[in-house]
Amino acid sequence: MVISRFAPSPTGYLHLGNARTAIFSYLFARHYGGKFILRIEDTDRERSTKEFENMLIEDLKWLGLDWDEFYRQSERFDIYREYAQRLVESGHAYPCFCTVEELEEERKKAEEKGVPYRYSGKCRVLTREEVESFKEDGKPYTIRFKVPEGRVVVFEDLIKGHIAINVDDFGDFVIVRSDGTPTYNFVVVVDDALMGVTHVIRGEDHIPNTPKQILIYEALNFQVPKFAHLPVILGEDRSKLSKRHGAVSVRNYREEGYIPEALFNYLCLLGWSPPEEGREILSKEELISIFRLEDINSSPAVFNKEKLRWMNGVYIREVVSLERLVDEFMPFLESAGYKVDRDYVKRVLEKTRDSFDTLKDGVERLKPFFAEEISYSEEAISVLENETSRAVIESFLQKVQEVELSGEKVKAIAKEIQKELGLKAKDVWHALRAVLTGELEGVGVDILCDVLPKEIVIKRMLKALQFMG
Ligand code: GLU
Repeated sequence: MVISRFAPSPTGYLHLGNARTAIFSYLFARHYGGKFILRIEDTDRERSTKEFENMLIEDLKWLGLDWDEFYRQSERFDIYREYAQRLVESGHAYPCFCTVEELEEERKKAEEKGVPYRYSGKCRVLTREEVESFKEDGKPYTIRFKVPEGRVVVFEDLIKGHIAINVDDFGDFVIVRSDGTPTYNFVVVVDDALMGVTHVIRGEDHIPNTPKQILIYEALNFQVPKFAHLPVILGEDRSKLSKRHGAVSVRNYREEGYIPEALFNYLCLLGWSPPEEGREILSKEELISIFRLEDINSSPAVFNKEKLRWMNGVYIREVVSLERLVDEFMPFLESAGYKVDRDYVKRVLEKTRDSFDTLKDGVERLKPFFAEEISYSEEAISVLENETSRAVIESFLQKVQEVELSGEKVKAIAKEIQKELGLKAKDVWHALRAVLTGELEGVGVDILCDVLPKEIVIKRMLKALQFMG
């Protein structure tokens, strides 16, 4: 059985790149009917917070991920202590009593000589007695892993291919800090091994860590898993996607009114392409059935915000059901301060779902359907100041009293008014539009009148007449 995992550190919002890693790891496990694990890597007690952990979990769930097992590293310190002990006992690791000042001194010397710094290995040669007496004196110490000399660590990455790294300049690295907390490269191995992870799928920024981890797997006699390092995601300017590129967290997109399935779908296409070319709109189920690591491109993917936006529009227009769309849209209306009835929202969206790409834009565009009060733009005001507009509104008010309102009816009335007053179609429609929406562009008056209750149409007409004085 394959077992994969996603192992975020709760030190910030879920970044799009990490979300993609989570999705690929998830799709891989589900494709092979395996197990998917979520593991919170919170050994760095200073940078990790419960708030970030909660948000990570919420955002992963929002994206549509689920997991079979859940772990939190901060609850597993006993296990790590035991394995660190084993490494010390088997001679693969040793306590290091060097002080911060001593290490700084070493670093400076290396700098002066112009050679890359690595720990001298000074404490490697301490005798058992020396170690005991330092400990008795209460000297703080770290535990370092003994990096073998002259070793080239080799692995076959499932995406990047053959990788060989000489570990000579690593220096013996710390696996347990002086405050007793274990470090990433060490705990990741203990956890992946004990959790039975068969495939480690993560960002390529972890390639330099992999040889260190392989050395620890070997020292603990654990089976080395397969590695798949995903290419980075770049911004349009071809530099690594980061805050400089604007919104880069899942939460940003959620708040902007993106549909989770659309974001999920788009992220999948960053660096992966379906075997059958040309198809882009894919459901989670389809993605599970066709996803293979073999189809991941080994070169970086470029994040294209416009494309994501377009895809979100496709989901809003034609992929999600109307009911789902209403569910997604309601909270946005509420947070914009509108008190609205679900049924009414449904009738509005049925007519207008093809006119916006994000839910937030939808709220803005559909304001005339929901706002209590319409405020007029400058352009609308100049139309209202036009004498013909008054005549149009007065006539419209009269005609509308007797009919049942609909888009078709409004078109017919507009034509009549045009004829009776000898105006151009444009003059009539501009006046109606200015009165009903407060603007000269945006949602169509006929569509608006298909749904807007007649008493509100009348109210807006009266308000405009009052405005005109
Ligand atoms: N906590 C690490 C990170 O967020 C996990 C890396 C890994 O998957 O091994 O980058």
